[in-house]
Amino acid sequence: MDVIPSFSQPEVVVENIEGMRRWLLKGVTVALIADAHLKAPLSRLFVFTHSDGKEASFAALIFTKLPSVGSLLQSLSEPGQLVFQPPLAGLASEFVAVSEDRALYILDTTGRRGTVVTPGLLPTQISVIIGDWPLYQWITPAVPITDPFRFTERLQQFCTVLSATLRDAYVERDTPPPVQRITLHIPHTEPQGMAREISQQLESAFHRFVPRSSPIAQEVPTDMPSDRFSDVGGQKAAVEGLGMVLLALSNPERYQQWGVRAPKGVLLYGPPGTGKTLLARCLAGEARAHFFHVRVSDITSKWYGEAESRMRAVFQQARAASPSIVFFDELDALAPSRDGAHEASQRILSTLLDQLDGLEELRGVIVVGATNRIGAIDPALLRPGRFDRLIEVGLPNREDRQAIIEIHCRRAEDRAGRALFADFDWERLLRVTDTFSGAELAEVVRRTLESRVVSPAEGPITMEELLTSARAVRSENKQRAQND
Ligand code: ATP
Repeated sequence: MDVIPSFSQPEVVVENIEGMRRWLLKGVTVALIADAHLKAPLSRLFVFTHSDGKEASFAALIFTKLPSVGSLLQSLSEPGQLVFQPPLAGLASEFVAVSEDRALYILDTTGRRGTVVTPGLLPTQISVIIGDWPLYQWITPAVPITDPFRFTERLQQFCTVLSATLRDAYVERDTPPPVQRITLHIPHTEPQGMAREISQQLESAFHRFVPRSSPIAQEVPTDMPSDRFSDVGGQKAAVEGLGMVLLALSNPERYQQWGVRAPKGVLLYGPPGTGKTLLARCLAGEARAHFFHVRVSDITSKWYGEAESRMRAVFQQARAASPSIVFFDELDALAPSRDGAHEASQRILSTLLDQLDGLEELRGVIVVGATNRIGAIDPALLRPGRFDRLIEVGLPNREDRQAIIEIHCRRAEDRAGRALFADFDWERLLRVTDTFSGAELAEVVRRTLESRVVSPAEGPITMEELLTSARAVRSENKQRAQND
C-alpha cells in the first residue's frame, strides 16, 4: 500500500486487500479490524469495518485520551455541549478537500467526498470514515464492493488519510509522530467463527468506554407454555411449516443425518390478531421448550450500549435454558430497515444479526419473529441462516373462523366444567364475522360469556347472543378505523 513518503508517521497497512474484500462480501455487521495503543498525547485507535454484503465502509476512532465515564455520559446526555475540535489543519493542504461543518471531506479520484475526518462523539475523539458508516449516514453513498478496483482504491485512500490524520494529530500537539505500523487484518475467515469473534472483540472494545453505571439488564420473563397446535383454529399451512421447525428442536439428528442445516429462525407475518404469538407459544409447548417473549420495550434503553447488552443477555438466557424459543414480537419495530433507521436501531439490528449468526452451534434454540409489516424489516434479517423461514399467518377463512370459535367455546366449557352453548346455526354468525381475526373471534366468545356473568339467564348460550357480541365488535372496529 502507498504511504506518503517524506514523513515519519504511523503507517496503516492492509494485510490482504483481496481477502478482506472476499470476507466483506459475506456481509459483516460491525467488526473491529485494528486496535492499537498509541504514544501520548494520543492514546488509542480503533478501526471498524461494516458491510451488508454489497457495500463496505471503514471507520477509525482515534482517542486523544480515553474518555472517562463522566465525559461519555455528558456527551451522550448533552450533545449540544460537545467541545468540537476543528479538523486537523495539515490535512486540508495535503489532500483535495472541502471543509464544512467542522468536518473535512477528502475527495476521491472521481471528485466525490470519499472520506471524512470529523470530531467524534466525544471531545477527545477524532473520527475518520469512508463510506456509509452507520453512525454517519449522511456521508457519500458507499460503492458496491463487487468492484474490486474501486474497493482497493477506497481502502487505500482510507489508510492514507488515517496515517496522515494520526501524524497531524501528533504534530498539532507538538510531538513528533511515532513510526508505528498498524495493520488492518481479517479477524477470521470462516463466517460463523467470525461472527462470534466480532461480538467478543466489540464487547471488549466498547467495555473500555461504555459507562458501567447503566442499569443491569433485566431478565426477559420466560415460561414453558402448555399450548398445543390443537389449540389453533385453521392456519393449517402455518402449523405445517412450524412442524418442520419443531423437528429441528425435538430431533436435530434427522437434519444431521441428511447433511442439511436445521432451521434456526422463523418469521411469522400477517395482520394483527391472527395468532402469531399463539403459534409461537404452541411451538414451544409442543417442543416442551422454554418460551422467551421479547418485546421491543424489553430491549430498548436510553443508555448507550445497553440495548445491545440486553439483546445478548436474552440469547445467553435462552442458551442456558435450551431447548428454548426466543420470540421477538413486532420485529419490524425492533429491527427496522437500515435505510433511515435511527442509529440506536442499527446497533440493535447488528447485535441481533451477530447473535443469529452465532446460533449454529446452539442446538436447541429457535428464534421466532412476528410482524404485521414484513416490508419494514431489514432484509439482512431474512437472509439464509437467519429468519429464513417465512410463514404467512393470514386472516381466517369461513371454515377456520368456525374452528376458532369452536375452540374458544370448548375451552370455556372445559374451564366451567359443563356444557354452556346451544347448538348453532353457523351460517349467520360466519357471515357477520367475515374478515374477523382470530383475536376478534375470541373476543366475541369472551364478551358473550361475560354478559352472562351479569345476566340472570341460566339456559344454554344461543347464537343470537354471539351475534350481538359479534355486531358490537364489528361496529367498534369500524369506529376505530374511522378514528385512525
Ligand atoms: P399481533 O400481531 O397483534 O401481536 P398475533 O398475530 O400475535 O397479534 P395473537 O396474540 O396470537 O395474535 O392472538 C391473540 C389471541 O387471539 C390468542 O391468544 C387467541 O386467543 C386468539 N387467536 C388468534 N388466532 C387464533 C387461532 N387461529 N386459533 C385460536 N385462537 C386464536
